[in-house]
Amino acid sequence: MDNKSVSKELKKELFYEKKNGLLTADQAEIDKAEQYCAGYKAFLNSAKTEREAVKSAIEIAEKKGFKPFDYTKKYKSGDKVYFNNRQKTVAFAVIGKEPVQNGVNITAAHIDSPRLDLKPNPLYEEIELGLFKTHYYGGIRKYQWPTVPLALHGVFALKNGEVINVCIGEDESDPKFVVNDLLPHLATEQSKRTLADGIKGEELNVLIGSRPFKDDEGSELVKLNLLKILNEKYGITEADFLSAELEIVPAFKSCDIGLDRSMIGSYGQDDRVCAYPALTAITDIKSPVKTAVTILADKEEIGSCGNTGLESDFLTHVIGDLAKMQNGDTTIALRNSKCLSADVNAGLDPTFQDVYERKNACRLNYGVVVTKYTGARGKSGTSDASAEYVAEIREMLDKNNIIWQTGELGKVDIGGGGTVAVYIANKGVDVVDLGVPVLSMHAPFETTAKLDVYMCYRTMYVFMQG
Ligand code: MN
Ligand code: MN
Repeated sequence: MDNKSVSKELKKELFYEKKNGLLTADQAEIDKAEQYCAGYKAFLNSAKTEREAVKSAIEIAEKKGFKPFDYTKKYKSGDKVYFNNRQKTVAFAVIGKEPVQNGVNITAAHIDSPRLDLKPNPLYEEIELGLFKTHYYGGIRKYQWPTVPLALHGVFALKNGEVINVCIGEDESDPKFVVNDLLPHLATEQSKRTLADGIKGEELNVLIGSRPFKDDEGSELVKLNLLKILNEKYGITEADFLSAELEIVPAFKSCDIGLDRSMIGSYGQDDRVCAYPALTAITDIKSPVKTAVTILADKEEIGSCGNTGLESDFLTHVIGDLAKMQNGDTTIALRNSKCLSADVNAGLDPTFQDVYERKNACRLNYGVVVTKYTGARGKSGTSDASAEYVAEIREMLDKNNIIWQTGELGKVDIGGGGTVAVYIANKGVDVVDLGVPVLSMHAPFETTAKLDVYMCYRTMYVFMQG
């Protein structure tokens, strides 16, 4: 061998090199990814809010034999149950061959996404136009939300206990809503604002009508007409907005992106792009070795707080219920448990590469991304998975021929972020972040690659099947 081929051989042996997954995967795998993503795109359209995601997920799971957990029952290996937490967070479990006390394999994703929530008292009229006041939810870039077709989703909870579902703007024949922006001709002053202030929070007002109630006297006739429409459709009055959860989300549907159809564009892929793989994996596994749990959580985008967020004891209670059903101990079960915190990472963007550190940024089509730590500045606020646990996950991914990569959230000191990993780590569980690279994360329309979505599903499947 000459020197050149010696060094080539040695490099092959010693270097860590990543290749584009579409160049290394066989065609059958790429075809499976295409098929799998058809289901994912449908899920995106049926689950734009956490409540709709819980409803859709339960519908999918019930078809595969999942039943609401009943603490008076004894479940055996292979049995499938779910825990519905206030219609906004749901946990699914498949009972393992080993006792729950030996540990549970948990996949955790979130089903809330950045959006505009209606304020408790939202409806008003200004210059004979009807509008909603909103309060944005999660980390949005406010300038992205004007002049985008919007839909209204959510519930009115009435004093008599009745809950009325609302969904306007999704059907082809439905009206849509919009936040206005200035025309360039009059935007000289506005254009001097920083991008962060381009549109301010109190300017995210949603246009919902302009037709006055036909009467030649009286004020607020547009508002009156709008309330009349809502009253006829839902039986509500203005006071019922006080006990409502109404969310403004983009009205467009998921679709393929690119001439080659290799990518998916949609609202809410952070984090349905991990929630759907976690859900479909747990509904596909059969009699796992360890008990498998998939949790689809609310409130991640605002810090996982509240009784439907993962900072709450809900997950502890779920594992406790499963352990106690076998006369096992909750603490021991948690201590022996492992988790994939399934969340997205920032895919390297061709136009804005300077905020990424290329050696450690994740890329579209390079597979599912393992993120050892998130956090900001000096890793502040991250759980930072142990080397030992990451080694275990590496072994699992390689053994199963899963296309994967590592990722970090941008250059050091450029920004940062967090996931649910830290709250699960706090329970004494081994946890690492693993998910899908996304372009334009938190925008009204986010982009992912189909191969990465499918690799996320395959990872969730092998992790929980055991
Ligand atoms: Mn996320
Ligand atoms: Mn997010």
